[in-house]
Amino acid sequence: MKRFEKKVAVVTGASRGIGQAICATFAREGARVAGVARSGLNETSAKCNGGEFIPIHADLSAGTKKAAADLVAEILKQAGRVDILVNNAGVIRRSPAVDFPEKEWDEVLRTNLSTPFFLCQEAAKWWLTQGREKSSPESRLKIINIASLLSFQGGILVPAYAASKHGIAGVTKALANEWARERINVNAIAPGYIATDNTQALRDDPVRSKAILDRIPEARWGRPEDIAGGCVFLASSDSDYLNGAILNIDGGWLGR
Ligand code: NDP
Repeated sequence: MKRFEKKVAVVTGASRGIGQAICATFAREGARVAGVARSGLNETSAKCNGGEFIPIHADLSAGTKKAAADLVAEILKQAGRVDILVNNAGVIRRSPAVDFPEKEWDEVLRTNLSTPFFLCQEAAKWWLTQGREKSSPESRLKIINIASLLSFQGGILVPAYAASKHGIAGVTKALANEWARERINVNAIAPGYIATDNTQALRDDPVRSKAILDRIPEARWGRPEDIAGGCVFLASSDSDYLNGAILNIDGGWLGR
């Protein structure tokens, strides 16, 4: 028996990187996976290796309640339910703080903080009004927000990203406090430095790249699959008594 048979997992930012690995891992564990992104999702579908993958094309940068409500309605139409929501989609924009453009500040905050909050709200609303009563008594809605080391640190040249990731850590705890009694687990993962497009600029800079690697006790960049493993734990019944936690999967970076 696979862990997530009959469960629907919604993963935003499914077209590449960490989100793609999360989709493939959930599919391997038997979930029906609805993957959300703006660009092509064929590669992710192929990596789901015969498991059910529902591609959903949407732009998550509006950061509005209406856009989130429309998206959840579309997912419910196509997949019927939501058992696991992974708010993974995110953007990073780099500029010195003194010149940081307002447009990029808004884009980052909307994509990384407002949209995840409203998606949590819509998924919880469905669970409380319909989902819970259609589910077995031990079932839960599992929400996993993808945070960052910059939920704890300020970073360099990324003030909007740091603000959004500090914010999502706060939202994770706030929602957990309200919803734990409703059989909704809200937790987050703070990935360390993972080799994806998001960190390409850092890996291309020999000075920053060496400084980062020298500090990681595991002495390697993380892989998207390292984060997917944490998602399996947070989506499974093994974590039913875990609420408002930020799980650092960072090769030891923060402990150093
Ligand atoms: P990538 O840049 O590789 O992928 C980002 C994903 O988010 C893509 O699937 C992209 O899809 C999607 N996305 C971005 N903007 C939008 C949008 N407006 N609408 C819909 N989808 C969008 O990033 P990673 O895989 O590295 O990062 C995933 C998450 O992990 C992010 O939240 C990131 O902040 C976080 N993280 C990553 C770390 C790392 O080291 N890589 C470290 C800490 C946290 P598309 O462009 O097709 O729309």
